[in-house]
Amino acid sequence: TQGLMSGKRGLIMGVANNRSIAWGIAKAVRAHGAELALTYQGDALRKRVEPLAAELGAHVAGHCDVTDAASIDAVFADLEKTWGRLDFLVHAIAFSDKEELDGRYVDTSADNFARTMQISVYSLVAVTQRAEKLMTEGGSILTLTYYGAEKVMPHYNVMGVAKAGLEASVRYLAADLGPKAIRVNALSAGPIKTLAASGIGDFRYILKWNEYNAPLRRTVTIEDVGDSALYLLSPLGRGVTGEIHHVDAGYHVVGMKAVDAPDI
Ligand code: NAD
Repeated sequence: TQGLMSGKRGLIMGVANNRSIAWGIAKAVRAHGAELALTYQGDALRKRVEPLAAELGAHVAGHCDVTDAASIDAVFADLEKTWGRLDFLVHAIAFSDKEELDGRYVDTSADNFARTMQISVYSLVAVTQRAEKLMTEGGSILTLTYYGAEKVMPHYNVMGVAKAGLEASVRYLAADLGPKAIRVNALSAGPIKTLAASGIGDFRYILKWNEYNAPLRRTVTIEDVGDSALYLLSPLGRGVTGEIHHVDAGYHVVGMKAVDAPDI
């Protein structure tokens, strides 16, 4: 499969550091020949993202905060100038107030609800609007979701509701853009210890629970997610759109605690 992505140019949004899921995806598609551009959110992350971009020979398309439409426009203007065309886009962005990723969902504030939806759901629509114009030869758009969209998971709260909205957006965007040969899919990743995950209460317990109860009896890595992303971003996934594909060691098929699971 060497060269599977050769000649393909893609924007990857959501690298914060070398533990980011977006980084696992960037490494996988680069290894198969893709040409990459990365964005970073703010100066603090710039210092982390620039050396990572250099490692993959990736173009740095600049700062992007999805709450600031001008910064999204600037990134796509840069891509239009640098490449003129885009073949794929990875959206690995989510945010909610840490305080509300603990306690009860019923206590979610209106402000944090709106902010969580804007950053974690609407941003996919916002970047897709811009990407559509550059995907003149078709394309593949991929976002990241979690099982908390489907079932109640401890502490996921408003983020679970956001991910449900994100998954529905994937289906509507897929229907809108299918006639232009632009595919839109999501990977539903099992829990991975990243910067974003550190905001979720009892995350170590959640990791152990998954390790003991998932059919594969392990958690997943950013490399596992990266290789599944390669399938959906490359021509191998050409017949697939509107799909929510689980990369969770099979956890989503399980109905109860494994009989051999140790106490945590
Ligand atoms: P991460 O912290 O490495 O990445 C989250 C990214 O979101 C960061 O790069 C951050 O800069 C970006 N971001 C947040 N607010 C933003 C804003 N306003 N504008 C632009 N960018 C913004 O963590 P991660 O776990 O790799 O998260 C990537 C995606 O994967 C998220 O959508 C997350 O919900 C999803 N996901 C994570 C897990 C997990 O267990 N880690 C599981 C399933 C899905």
